Amino acid sequence: MNYQTFQNLNYVWMSIGVLVFLLLLKVPAPYGRHSSAKWGPQINNKLGWVFMEAPGMILLMFFVLTGAIRQNAMSWILISLYLFHYLNRTFVFPMRLRTRAKKMPLLIMVLAIFFNLVNGSLIGYYFANFAHYTITDLMGPRFIFGAILFGCGVFINWDYDNRLIHLRRPGETGYKIPEGGLFRWVSCPNHLGEIIEWTGFALMCWNLAAVSFIVWTIANLIPRTLSHHKWYKRQFGDYPANRKAVIPFVL
Ligand code: NDP
Repeated sequence: MNYQTFQNLNYVWMSIGVLVFLLLLKVPAPYGRHSSAKWGPQINNKLGWVFMEAPGMILLMFFVLTGAIRQNAMSWILISLYLFHYLNRTFVFPMRLRTRAKKMPLLIMVLAIFFNLVNGSLIGYYFANFAHYTITDLMGPRFIFGAILFGCGVFINWDYDNRLIHLRRPGETGYKIPEGGLFRWVSCPNHLGEIIEWTGFALMCWNLAAVSFIVWTIANLIPRTLSHHKWYKRQFGDYPANRKAVIPFVL
């Protein structure tokens, strides 16, 4: 595939992401607190996370290792950051969840596998065929700013995933109002962290594959955050009225 075709493919993928964003604003993705048996056969949610998150990084590595370009140190830094996120999301995060025999629809798992396969392939294909990063890129303000965003995003995402998971004592299954830290301003700081993280990654990578990845991350997470926020307000009469969903004071 030549570079122009690859770019066009990314534009098509981003356009589909925008449609999915609009769809998810109407229909919340049915997993976690929105899980429902009416979406067909279900799978254990921890297993679901492993199966749906692993394929993207496997395909990315397939392209990187078999591609035309031999990756330099700069490319390996970027690839490692992607792997670092997905190794946690695939193998560590699910094992830490305090959910007991909770299930998610197989449909969600299959759709997420597709999403991760396409994103992993596009990013992997870019590295395999078009990436020519140099040390000058590493020293540039765009890369440095992106790296700071990525680091802050990872920290916020991990910290607030952790705080949410630990709202339940071992054996508990219900939900509580999260308090303190960024929860004073937003309902879903973990989602905010993930959006900041992949925005930083797109700035560091500076290619359309990474941009389409952040478009899809936003398409998945902003509607999910809004659904969570509405759910909290429905569920808890005393939910803090001035708390926003994901962007402090704005949304
Ligand atoms: P949630 O915030 O809904 O839940 C995270 C964990 O904390 C779950 O185990 C959940 O339990 C538990 N939890 C959440 N809120 C409460 C509460 N108020 N009281 C008690 N327990 C609570 O996370 P998501 O499932 O939305 O996302 C998980 C991670 O995956 C996040 O880091 C997110 O950024 C990432 N993600 C990334 C996407 C992308 O496109 N890049 C898409 C979707 C998620 P339970 O499961 O029982 O609800």
